[in-house]
Amino acid sequence: MKVTGVTTYVLKHDLPEPFGFSQGWYSTRKCLLTKVQTDEGLFGWGESWGPPEPVCTIIEHILAPMVVGEDPFDSERLWERMYNSTRDYGQKGLIIGAISSIDIALWDIKGKALDLPVHKLLGGAFRDHIKAYASSFYQTNPPQSERDLRELALKHINEGFTMMKMKIGFGPAEDVKRVRAVREAVGEGVGLMVDANHAYDSCTAIRLGKQIEPYDIFWFEEPVGPENIEGYLEVRAALNIPIAGGEAEFTKFGFRALISKRAVDIIQPDVTLAGGFTECKKIAAMAQAWHIACVPHVWGSAVGLAAGLQFITSIPNHPEYMWSDKPVLEVDRSPNPLRDELAREPIVVVKNGVVSIPQRPGLGVDVDEQVLDRYRVK
Ligand code: MG
Repeated sequence: MKVTGVTTYVLKHDLPEPFGFSQGWYSTRKCLLTKVQTDEGLFGWGESWGPPEPVCTIIEHILAPMVVGEDPFDSERLWERMYNSTRDYGQKGLIIGAISSIDIALWDIKGKALDLPVHKLLGGAFRDHIKAYASSFYQTNPPQSERDLRELALKHINEGFTMMKMKIGFGPAEDVKRVRAVREAVGEGVGLMVDANHAYDSCTAIRLGKQIEPYDIFWFEEPVGPENIEGYLEVRAALNIPIAGGEAEFTKFGFRALISKRAVDIIQPDVTLAGGFTECKKIAAMAQAWHIACVPHVWGSAVGLAAGLQFITSIPNHPEYMWSDKPVLEVDRSPNPLRDELAREPIVVVKNGVVSIPQRPGLGVDVDEQVLDRYRVK
């Protein structure tokens, strides 16, 4: 089998209401999908998280010529070719996102060719369903009152979630107020995580962390900047809360310091950004060797969600025991038709807060090309 072509799709949806996080406001949802075609009529879908237009240019002008004419089953060799050919000006960022998108599409093709889901090719499923958590509590304009936050928390409980993650990073006083309101609303027994999206320096993150420690925080995500390994170490040493990070890190080389210095308790590689299945499988193995949990970051369209789900199910429990609470699946609750409408059979959270692992071949996602056309930037 040979790759015959690579097509990119920039998708965009304007949001009726913008929502915010510590680094800015989203007024549109965008994504970059990649379709890799073969001479046997099979094709695979991939996705890259990050600004889609430059990723599209990288794929079309730099990476596609490296995979056209090649066998999709040579995905490891092709990954090395794409990485090494761009290494002098790459290593992180959009180039690795672009490589991720092609790599995911190659694995989708391999699964379809063998009539097996990707998790089978990755070594098998450690679970047939996974606990999902609501990724939510984004900033709004005007900001939500404590009553609004309590109502949103109860809405997620009614949707079936038993875990939820809050955006923080809006100033420590505001953050503490928000966390207290949500914990008081959901009571004990609901997993509650906070995500600052690297809003703080280590001193502020520690002061904030001390104030929210009494609210039983399951993890504190990206307290400091992704480059700030020393800051992570300070925060981790000072707080009695597990520290998570890595959604803005790339490849086994990028994750090496975070893991080997034990700067986090939980690493969060995103399969659509950190290097696709080929690289994320290795990152998860590195984490296991240092006894650090791997709980991937998941964002984006139906394709990115499906890829994240296939990857997560191939990760062993950490630590291994029958009632292990990791890994869990991030399910973004902000409005996104690219996630909800693009797949003919969308991934849904069922009543008891779990998601089933798709058993269909490849990623298990059947992209509706009419929906694709509707949101495609021409
Ligand atoms: Mg995050």
